[in-house]
Amino acid sequence: MEENKYTTPHVVMVPSPGMGHLIPLVELAKLFIHHHNFTITFIIPTIGSHPPKPQISLLQTLPPQSTTYFFLPPISFDYLPQETKAETKITLAVTRSISSIRDVFQSLAENANLVALVVDIFGTDAFDVAHQFNVSPYLYFPSMTMGLILLLYMPKLDSLVSSEYRDLAEPVKLPGCTPICGRDFPEPFQDRKDEAYKLFLHHGKRVGLAEGIILNSFMELEPDPIKALQDDSELCRPPVYPIGPLIQTGSCGWAEPAGGLEYLRWLDDQPTGSVLFVSFGSGGTLSSEQLTELALGLEMSGTKFLWVVRSPNNKASNASFFSVHSQTDPLGCLPYGFVERTKRQGLSVPSWAPQTEVLGHCSVGGFLSHCGWNSILESIVNGVPLIAWPLYAEQKMNAIVLTEVLKVALRPKADENGIVGREEIARVVKELMEGEEGFRVRDQMNYWKEAAVKAKSEEGSSTKSLSELVIKWKKHKK
Ligand code: UDP
Repeated sequence: MEENKYTTPHVVMVPSPGMGHLIPLVELAKLFIHHHNFTITFIIPTIGSHPPKPQISLLQTLPPQSTTYFFLPPISFDYLPQETKAETKITLAVTRSISSIRDVFQSLAENANLVALVVDIFGTDAFDVAHQFNVSPYLYFPSMTMGLILLLYMPKLDSLVSSEYRDLAEPVKLPGCTPICGRDFPEPFQDRKDEAYKLFLHHGKRVGLAEGIILNSFMELEPDPIKALQDDSELCRPPVYPIGPLIQTGSCGWAEPAGGLEYLRWLDDQPTGSVLFVSFGSGGTLSSEQLTELALGLEMSGTKFLWVVRSPNNKASNASFFSVHSQTDPLGCLPYGFVERTKRQGLSVPSWAPQTEVLGHCSVGGFLSHCGWNSILESIVNGVPLIAWPLYAEQKMNAIVLTEVLKVALRPKADENGIVGREEIARVVKELMEGEEGFRVRDQMNYWKEAAVKAKSEEGSSTKSLSELVIKWKKHKK
């Protein structure tokens, strides 16, 4: 049958606000467009007064004949208390956009062969719209599988535990996962009275309404957690499809700062495996004191570095999540004389660098990372070992799995005030780049790199999982 807009499978994606949420869904969209001939519509809830330019540029990297996107009317949070957590705002932005999402669905339903709605973890309220239009709702979970298990287990944990999780004397044993202390649970789990916790509980209960969960992971990397999701009767959950690792490919259009190419040229001039890449994801920020210690620690290590610097923020560690680019000149916030003194040793760049290209460059031999899942997968794909420096969200949990289960990262120790001092930074950096432990984690990272290639090969576990999903969607009948 000739494919036209009424027969071509069409998927609607609703990313919650934030670049870190849009990037994984754009990559998922590319997969369905380029390899399976699907068409995609993005419906994007927004916060603030206008659609962020970076998001538009990122969407423009998708083929226009296969993609449409709608930015929904921005939701204002001026009335919310200042201390409202990002997770609360993100969920509310989706929830308050439901009627606009419904309007777009209405017009799509008349014009396209809608087969599935895909949301991220903050978007489970949009499942109701999918049900209303007889479209299959799916969750895309672009993070470590243990995070999903925690979420699914949360209603049970919530009823069993009365204290704050951080006060639990024993680590919690989640099905298929390494035991984890409550204090290492994701940030929104640290204050059970906060709205962000209640909203996570709400999402945890609603995940079961999905017809399937797409995981950006692969069986070989997380065998026990993924098997627990498939088999454990304690976890009430839909079928899971581990299709990863799916990482950013090609340019992300917008962010290539004027210097993007210049950074890569600088890397060309460095010896193989000599450079430590330092970056805290799309939104991570350090306090002023920590920024100074990091600068001086890198300098003291004598190691080559490429550092994506953000202006410090003393209140939040995710201060750039909605904006990415710092308001003030980040390089101006570095210790006096640092940039000049280190000009032969390293390159400090403001706000953003083309991370996947940087990690793929042969000069890069280590990555000091905030442990966001996309950054972890990008490191695995490129075989670059890590220094784990978790900041917010589920990153502490990720850091534990990186150091204790996957054994691909070293972790610096913070002092009693939570600051990682310059000597400790210099020690860990040198250990990763030149020491025995560094050698071990590099070796182990190469093992996972090969496993990732295998999972994505023609007969690989992720390829099979993706085919199952595609077949299911192609069979979808209204
Ligand atoms: N990223 C990038 N350049 C930067 C910082 C981040 O390209 O300077 C990309 C990175 O490659 C990854 C994403 O932004 O794909 C960050 O996702 P992650 O899950 O690691 O962290 P989050 O930003 O969601 O905390």
